[in-house]
Amino acid sequence: MADPAQCSIKVVCRFRPLNSSEVARGDKYIPKFVGDDCVHILGKPFYFDRVFQSNTSQEQFYNAWAQKIVKDVLDGYNGTIFAYGQTSSGKTHTMEGRLHDTDMMGVIPRIVHDIFNHIYSMDQNLEFHIKVSYFEVYLDKIKDLLDPSKTNLSVHEDKNRVPYVKGCTERFVCSPEEVMDAIDEGKNSRHVAVTNMNEHSSRSHSIFLINIKQENSLTEQKMTGKLYLVDLAGSEKVGKTGAEGTVLDEAKMINKSLSSLGIVISALAEGSAYIPYRDSKMTRILQDSLGGNCRTTMVICCSPSSYNDAETKSTLQFGQRAK
Ligand code: ADP
Ligand code: MG
Repeated sequence: MADPAQCSIKVVCRFRPLNSSEVARGDKYIPKFVGDDCVHILGKPFYFDRVFQSNTSQEQFYNAWAQKIVKDVLDGYNGTIFAYGQTSSGKTHTMEGRLHDTDMMGVIPRIVHDIFNHIYSMDQNLEFHIKVSYFEVYLDKIKDLLDPSKTNLSVHEDKNRVPYVKGCTERFVCSPEEVMDAIDEGKNSRHVAVTNMNEHSSRSHSIFLINIKQENSLTEQKMTGKLYLVDLAGSEKVGKTGAEGTVLDEAKMINKSLSSLGIVISALAEGSAYIPYRDSKMTRILQDSLGGNCRTTMVICCSPSSYNDAETKSTLQFGQRAK
């Protein structure tokens, strides 16, 4: 196990703009930004590694912190990027954005383009094998989005005790276009399976995994790095009142998986000796890409509207605990 002191957890925060229905309702724009690492909500300051204001473009956001992660993964580190926040706070906009639009593409497509640009610029003796997986965790069940017939996969450990989702499709990809096709395909199979996509995405975590293996044909040296890109379930408390049956189970499960993630991240940030990875399926899967010698970034996504002030405060508090 790598030295926990080397563990690096970054937390950045991003506010989206007010949307047209919030403006029409007369909501107020509540964040007050101080420098580039602090935001005040209702007079209370919250500090992060970086805070991004509503007018930050996709490119500015990516260049400011995410770009570095590509280099680390190509240097053989594992990493995870999470987007955390209430439904409609900008998680999917941040992680995916518009996959085929140069200006509006989010973190995942930008990372993919950077990885391939790096490969194209490398020495011919280096051979790269890149594979991707795409799955979602819903009610603690893992479903393969690249093969929707696999609806209940389980987490196993390989001989080096590295956890993995057993049986999950691993697709070899040779170009950014092939990665975008895989993402489109996965999103499609998600859409087809559910009646209300917004509701579904607010209750499930979607996880995109990029695995990079490099081999030098002269020295036979090998190196692997992997990156988990996670669009988490909405952080709003679901089904607090009047929930029964599945709805209540669902609510408990989502709240539990997000709170166990929070507990794992803060234990890592504090350098605790015991990290409770086994408390949820998601933290088990991510175990070797969160702690130790890894690069982890949590993106805290927030609405700027006075209507959401309580949720925004609790979202910011969650992010602060990871510091
Ligand atoms: P979530 O995934 O957290 O539920 P979305 O990413 O779907 O939220 O964002 C909700 C809406 O707000 C979408 O229409 C999205 O395009 C828009 N939006 C989110 N963040 C931004 C931003 N930073 N700038 C402009 N529009 C945004
Ligand atoms: Mg979303």
